[in-house]
Amino acid sequence: MLAAIYIQGKGMKIEEIPVPVNSEDEILVKIRATSICGTDLKIAKNGHRKLKDGQKIVLGHEFVGEITSVGRNVQGFKKGQRVGVAPNAGCGRCPACIQGKSNYCPDYTAFGIDRDGAHSEYVVIPSKFIVQGNVIPLPDEVSDIEGCILEPFSCVLNGVRVSKIELGDTVLIFGAGPIGMMHLMLSKISGAAKIIVADINRQRLEKALEAGADKIIDSSSMDECSKSVMKETGGRGANVIITACPVREVQERSVQLLAPFGRVCLFGGLPKGTDGIKFDSNAVHYRNLTVTGSTGGSVDDFIRSMELVRNRKVKLGSIVSDIFKLSEMEKAYAKMNAGPEGKIVLVEEATVKKAVTESRWY
Ligand SMILES: [Zn+2]
Ligand SMILES: [Zn+2]
Repeated sequence: MLAAIYIQGKGMKIEEIPVPVNSEDEILVKIRATSICGTDLKIAKNGHRKLKDGQKIVLGHEFVGEITSVGRNVQGFKKGQRVGVAPNAGCGRCPACIQGKSNYCPDYTAFGIDRDGAHSEYVVIPSKFIVQGNVIPLPDEVSDIEGCILEPFSCVLNGVRVSKIELGDTVLIFGAGPIGMMHLMLSKISGAAKIIVADINRQRLEKALEAGADKIIDSSSMDECSKSVMKETGGRGANVIITACPVREVQERSVQLLAPFGRVCLFGGLPKGTDGIKFDSNAVHYRNLTVTGSTGGSVDDFIRSMELVRNRKVKLGSIVSDIFKLSEMEKAYAKMNAGPEGKIVLVEEATVKKAVTESRWY
């Protein structure tokens, strides 16, 4: 089968490898759809701290597949079932895991990070993922392309939950890429009265407007952007700010752009080697602000995300800009490298047409 392989310290290549075999405690899944995440590209370029030198893994952690083999010790699953998988499994014993927040487990394991992932035709699901509830049967209302985007969506849902958006809030989102667009979707249904989206890319801003942003702001100049935010909020600032971009200045400025009792969620991490940020801590003190952040999503976040999609509260397909066949992995990664407009999804050849009609970017 064709697979996107990363070798720590050596880089990435796409090559044929044997179809994996599942043990008696594992499930084998045939990939129906899988999307490329910024994290895949980051690993392909810089490797990952969880990998040893020379270690080889298949990339990809966002996927939907069909079960083709169930190990005989596995209960509750059957051949032919369509499943989505929350890709991080915790140790099960640490305080974070006990709270159900395996995404904050210091000893997690994840597809496409420290074990073979989904950018291939088949993936083995180990016992740990099965017993911890990470394998989630998908209802018919959730399509393959929506199912594979449930993973980044669940990370966004985690970020929105920690931001504590209240009815009538003004929310400011920095970044109108796929992650920013998902924040827009969730801010809307969380009861935000006004959603402002800022980005340096005009096309992405237009897309945000189309997707329901109340106001878009060009953030090429942060001075100008800050003035516009203050104007749009009657001089008070936003109640909630989400930084869905890896930009230091955006994080530093965000505190100044918050209204009293405002919350900022530092959602996008900064590039490796950035030695922290400076911000006006007196603003936090005198205006009772909250600076928070989030990373990843739990199994609970994943299931909640699935319920929102299943009940058509959000249209996740609208963030997909490019559909490729699984056999076009090379092309798909090239496109990812070039910087796509929205999300890139690879699907089985037979479902390409269906996937294209479900994605709305076209
Ligand atoms: Zn991801
Ligand atoms: Zn743990």
